[in-house]
Amino acid sequence: MIPIVLKFGGTSVGDVQAFENVADIVGARVDLAPVVVVSAMSKVTDALLASTKIAAEAKPREAIDSLDSIFKRHKQTANKLLTAAGATRYATVIDEAKSATSTLLRRIVVEPANYRALQDSVLAFGETLSSILLAQLFIERGISAKQVDARRCVITNDEHGCAAPLMTETFAATQSNLLPLIEAEVIPVLGGFVGSTSTGETTTLGRGGSDYTAAIMGAALNAREIQIWTDVTGVLTADPRVVPTAQTVERLSYAEAAELAYFGAKVLHPKTIQPAIEGSIPVRICNSRAPDEAGTLVCAQIESTPRTVKAIAHKTGVTTVQISSARMLGAYGFLRALFEVFEKHRTVVDVVTTSEVSVSLSLDDAAALPEIVADLEKLGTVGVEKGRAIICVVGEGLRGTPGIAARVFSTISDINVSLISQGASSINFTFAIEEERVKEAVTRLHEAFFGESKVQRSESKVQSSKSKVQSTTA
Ligand code: ASP
Ligand code: MG
Repeated sequence: MIPIVLKFGGTSVGDVQAFENVADIVGARVDLAPVVVVSAMSKVTDALLASTKIAAEAKPREAIDSLDSIFKRHKQTANKLLTAAGATRYATVIDEAKSATSTLLRRIVVEPANYRALQDSVLAFGETLSSILLAQLFIERGISAKQVDARRCVITNDEHGCAAPLMTETFAATQSNLLPLIEAEVIPVLGGFVGSTSTGETTTLGRGGSDYTAAIMGAALNAREIQIWTDVTGVLTADPRVVPTAQTVERLSYAEAAELAYFGAKVLHPKTIQPAIEGSIPVRICNSRAPDEAGTLVCAQIESTPRTVKAIAHKTGVTTVQISSARMLGAYGFLRALFEVFEKHRTVVDVVTTSEVSVSLSLDDAAALPEIVADLEKLGTVGVEKGRAIICVVGEGLRGTPGIAARVFSTISDINVSLISQGASSINFTFAIEEERVKEAVTRLHEAFFGESKVQRSESKVQSSKSKVQSTTA
């Protein structure tokens, strides 16, 4: 039995209705041998994190009380979802969690040296509680399921807060814990985000880490697919707030998805899908509010559609910086000195272009700009432009298709373009424009690349969903 991994994020288990939807989605897929990975209920991780910070300020009572509403919310949700007996049992779980987190929060006050470790132990309750509730709901709905503590499967180093999984140990532990359940047609339900060191200390994988857990489970079990269930219909051809006619992209390569990741949290983080890439396991982004839609499939196969361009992403609020210096010509060490300035001020540089005597780059976070400029001026003449937007045209087909740049620029020929770059992967074409014109530019580009032949597109959609049905029944 080749399993499929289904991951549900915090909003997919945010309330009673959301839990019901998950039970429906999983219930309709029991034949696919699902392994379910779930996040904490929405906003719970934030609340747990905040409580540890309050405790660190030596306010244990306040910290403990701050979690009351969270525990109450779990109980109320369970009361509405479960039978009276189930809800009573779950209330006991919550009461135990309450006393365990209280103890941990008090320890934070007296053991500041263990802060990060204790914090991870507190955070783990978010995913533990949602996974216990979800498994119980499945059982009451007649779906054979069992909650599995993710700490038994995901073995990590001891870097609390962003622990790195030890893949060999993790794969072995995952297989030995989950395969017998899968064989017995029992659905394992695990909390994402949480792991444990080989000595049994609780760790977490970094914020948003449940996707990572799902990818790790998928790779460990050699799953047929990893499905990330969220509240959008996969990846869209453009931001729907700007282009209301934006459509779901059917397929993306891992590289295309990685390029798009920068442009919005809705796309998978490249680190997250690394285990899937290594195991060549397709990742599908699905919408829990529209479960019948195919979503976006991210996989290794490079499919360069005749259309070439897959998506047009953009980002506003960008600052661009230009540094010109005659010293750069024929010299080495110049770029190192330049990037050291950004490192010193802990500022992430995004797009970079360089000529013989000048470098242009873009920054998302310009908080340290005055200090950065002061340091850069030691290297050359510095220019800054605020209120810029970055537009990124992505598609594997860009690699070998002439004329894309001409088409992009002729479409927006009346708009000033700067910082033009094409990354080493040659699957994206990125540039900056002034922020005020970004809506107009993206709309026109979308029209130029996706506007026509809607009929042909819907035909190809039908075909691909047919072939999907074939492959799942095979
Ligand atoms: N609950 C964790 C967080 O909010 C992990 C996740 O949702 O992916 O960051
Ligand atoms: Mg999340």
